[in-house]
Formats: sequence, structure tokens, C-alpha cells
Amino acid sequence: MEKYTPQREFADRRLKVSGARTYFYVNEAQCEKNMETFINCIDAVSDATYGTGFAAIKMTALGRPQLLMQLSETIARTRQYFHKVTGTCGGAVISSDISSDVFKARFKQEAIGPVDNEAVQKWLDNMTYDKKGLIHLFSWSGLIDTNMLLQDVFRVPNLVTGKMEPLISTLTKEEEEMFKNMMRRLHTIFQYAQERDVRVMVDAEQTYFQPAISRLTMELMKKYNTEKAIVFNTYQCYLKNTYNDLVLDLEQCYRQKFFFGCKLVRGAYMEQERLRAEALGYEDPINPSFDATSEMYHRCLLEALQKIKKNKEDGCPTKIAIMVASHNEDTVRFTIRNMKQFGVQPEDRLICFGQLLGMCDHISLPLGQSGYSVYKYVPYGPVNEVLPYLSRRATENSSLMSKLQKERSMLWKELIRRLRTGKFVYRPEGKYVPIGAQIVKE
Ligand SMILES: Cc1cc2nc3c(=O)[nH]c(=O)nc-3n(C[C@H](O)[C@H](O)[C@H](O)COP(=O)(O)OP(=O)(O)OC[C@H]3O[C@@H](n4cnc5c(N)ncnc54)[C@H](O)[C@@H]3O)c2cc1C
Repeated sequence: MEKYTPQREFADRRLKVSGARTYFYVNEAQCEKNMETFINCIDAVSDATYGTGFAAIKMTALGRPQLLMQLSETIARTRQYFHKVTGTCGGAVISSDISSDVFKARFKQEAIGPVDNEAVQKWLDNMTYDKKGLIHLFSWSGLIDTNMLLQDVFRVPNLVTGKMEPLISTLTKEEEEMFKNMMRRLHTIFQYAQERDVRVMVDAEQTYFQPAISRLTMELMKKYNTEKAIVFNTYQCYLKNTYNDLVLDLEQCYRQKFFFGCKLVRGAYMEQERLRAEALGYEDPINPSFDATSEMYHRCLLEALQKIKKNKEDGCPTKIAIMVASHNEDTVRFTIRNMKQFGVQPEDRLICFGQLLGMCDHISLPLGQSGYSVYKYVPYGPVNEVLPYLSRRATENSSLMSKLQKERSMLWKELIRRLRTGKFVYRPEGKYVPIGAQIVKE
């Protein structure tokens, strides 16, 4: 077994990760190149599928990952601050019954008099509210849409002195510039995706980046998902907190009236996450067992289906699109059973399935033949980079290997059957209409 030390953590983020590509920060020029590659990918999807396909991006390829880690820590500190002031837990942060009065009352109680303090009053005024209550403590849209500095956005009143102070650790001018660059690259990608009408999934990565990735993706959704779901966030159901995060994000979409694009996965970094938690001495963020992960996956899916049903019953437009990205047959069966139960038809195009190219065709093909939308995830790149990636997957991922064995034995059986019957060409007999078949090239 490879020896894990916290010091190696950033030196090799691939440690014990076989199912995901890892980008290492080289310099800003490399991030620009990565952005161009993602743009080319959007072009390829648009040309090949007339807008029905998906492209996928990784945020760590588009800027300095260290910044995503700092932002994730700041989100954790925001939650702690929110809890300290209001006595309730918040996401990052949505609450239906908290108003600025709660903060004012607490500040008064602390006798710090910040309500009279101009800077604090401005801070209170800048919180994001709707009729139901607080949505965010900070102006996230200010962060991603304007030239505000991270250091200026993440400031809160100190509960003892009443003075505004930053929640984020000190950043240099260069780091602030790098963050702006990352935001600019993300906007370039999503503006282009919107123009070409291509949906883009933002991959989920390690827990020390993920809060920032997820939060920024939600803000991008708010901006680009006004007419349809262009931006998709990824939810890793092996994480203990995922169900709560998904509920809050669904609530935000509903309250701020934008489309919720969601890719549901179990998660690809389990071993590394557990090793890191053990090495650094914090609670393991992963569910205790495979069954607990599956239960959370199914609970997240049911939550989305319930929201879809409620929207339909209320006569509201259903602004939810889900990709069930899994090779697990039980999860695929569970999804189909519950789609029927909740009255969601394949042709509604609200739920689709995703599997890796070359994996589980015995699941993808029947799904497609029955009229469900199915996507094959295609790893691409220079041969010298893709082959080692694929071979790592093949040798390290035992659960996928057992699925491949099953598929191989099914292919043999089918080959023998065709040889015996003399019918070599397979023509499906069902009267299905493939999703997207109605799209004709002009
Ligand atoms: C289209 C597509 C997109 C993907 N995008 C992402 C992404 O953005 N981010 C990402 O992290 N992954 C992503 N994945 C990978 C995915 O998270 C899984 O690693 C992989 O698909 C295996 O899960 P499964 O449901 O297919 O199969 P299964 O074999 O049923 O599940 C295996 C998974 O279950 C979980 N698990 C296994 N044992 C335990 C245990 N003891 N305790 C708790 N959990 C356990 C782990 O997550 C493991 O990977 C993607 C997969 C696909 C197909």
C-alpha cells in the first residue's frame, strides 16, 4: 500500500483516485489552454449532437486550485459565524425565517453597537434576501459578476469589537487576480455554451475544493439557467452532507426562479478522502458503508422527483433536469420505477442517464431502446495521457472490472445465440422513438 502523508496531498492529488482526471496547476497560460480545450469540446458536442449532448469541465483546470480550497474554508467559516450569531445551521447560507433583524438583535445583545456603525449597516443591507428570508450573507453575484475582491466580499462584523473583518485568509494581489481569471474563464465557457445551446456539467472533486466548486456553480446556474438548464452541478452521494446540500440548492433555485441542473454520482475519491481524514484527524466525510451511499443516492433522487411532481401539481414549470450518472443496475431500476411512480415520462426529458463509454452497454442500450435519454461519457485527449488514465481505471477499479466481466459474458452469450439462430444483424422490435430523433439538421 502506498504511504500517505499530508505533505504529499497536493503533490499527488491522484493518490488512490482511478476514476477521475486530475489537473495540476502549471500557470495561468495553461489554464487558458484548458479553457480552449473545453470550448472545443462544446463545439464538438454541438456539431455532433445538435445540442442534445453534454460537455463536462473541471474547475481545478481553470485556475489555481489552492484558491478553491481557501474559498471552501471561508464557506465553512461562514457557516460557523452564521451559527454563532443566529443559533441555527445554514448552508452557505439559505434560511427561510432569518432576517437582518436577527443579526441586529444579536449585535445589540453583544453591546457592540454595530447597528449604528455605517460599515455594518452596509453589510446588513447587502445580504441577499427574498420574501421568505435570508438567502446569502454575502453578495456572491458581486463576486462572480463584478470586480469585487474576495477580501472585500467575505467580511463580517466581529462580535466583540463590532469592526468589519475578513473571514478569508489574506490573499496577495496576484492571487486575487488569479481568482478573477478563473471567473472570467468560467464565464467565457458558459456564455459560449449558452450561445451554442450545449449543456455543461461541472464535475465534483475532492471535499477540500468541493464547497467552493459547488457554490460557484450555483451562482453560474443563477446567471445562465434562466431559460433552460445549461449549467449542471454534481452531487456526490458518498458524502454525508450531500442530501442537505441538495435540498438547500433546490430551494435556492426554486426561490430565485432558475433551472436546477444536477448530475448525481456516488463519488470517485472515496479512498483518498478517507486517508486524508484519518491522516489529518477530522471526521471521515464519506458515508459509513456502500449501502448508506446508495440510500443517500436514492433519497436525493426522490427529493428531486418529489419537487418535479409538486411543480406539476401546482401548475408551475418544472425547472429541474437530472442526470443519473451511475453504472449501478439497482440505481437505474430504482430510477425507472420511481419515474413511473411520480409520473415522469422519458420524453419529458427531465431525467437522463450517464455511463462511461465502454462501460455497461448492457444497461445503456436497453435504456436507449426503451426511449430513455442515455449519454456515454467519453474521456478524450492526447493518446499518451488518455491511455495511462484508462489503464489505471482498468487495473485499479475492481468494482468496474466485475461489471466488465459480466458484460463480456453477456456478449459471448449473445454471439453464440446469433451464431445458432443465423440472425447476425440485430433489429430492435420495440416501437420506441429515440429522444432527439425529432431533431433534423437544417
Ligand atoms: C457520467 C459520469 C460522470 C461522473 N462524474 C463524476 C464527478 O463529477 N465526480 C465524481 O466524484 N465522480 C464522478 N463519476 C464517478 C462516480 O462517482 C463513481 O465513482 C462511479 O460511477 C462508480 O459508481 P456507480 O454508481 O457507477 O457504481 P457502484 O459500483 O454501484 O458504486 C461504487 C461507488 O460506491 C461508493 N462506495 C463504494 N464502497 C463504499 C463504501 N464502503 N462506503 C461508502 N461508499 C462506497 C463509491 O463512491 C464508489 O465509487 C462519474 C461517473 C459517471 C458515469
